Amino acid sequence: MSTGCQQKQRLQTEVQEALNRLAKACTESIEALHSQNNRALDRLDKELEIAMGNKERLMGALRQHVAEHGCLPGDPGRSEHSN
Ligand SMILES: [Zn+2]
Repeated sequence: MSTGCQQKQRLQTEVQEALNRLAKACTESIEALHSQNNRALDRLDKELEIAMGNKERLMGALRQHVAEHGCLPGDPGRSEHSN
């Protein structure tokens, strides 16, 4: 209980994974742009859109959880006393 909020940590991990996918799609988009690979660029553009939406959704979930639960992001030490 006092080692931090597991729900928050789970959401943070998911946000991090979403950001990694987003960054990967960005890097690959730049590569596709450089090599003028239009087909890949098209596919990656859609991937970026999905990854961005996914990130927004998870970020919103994390924010809402923190607001409702009172646990602070990046502060796993003191989450259980505010409710
Ligand atoms: Zn929490």
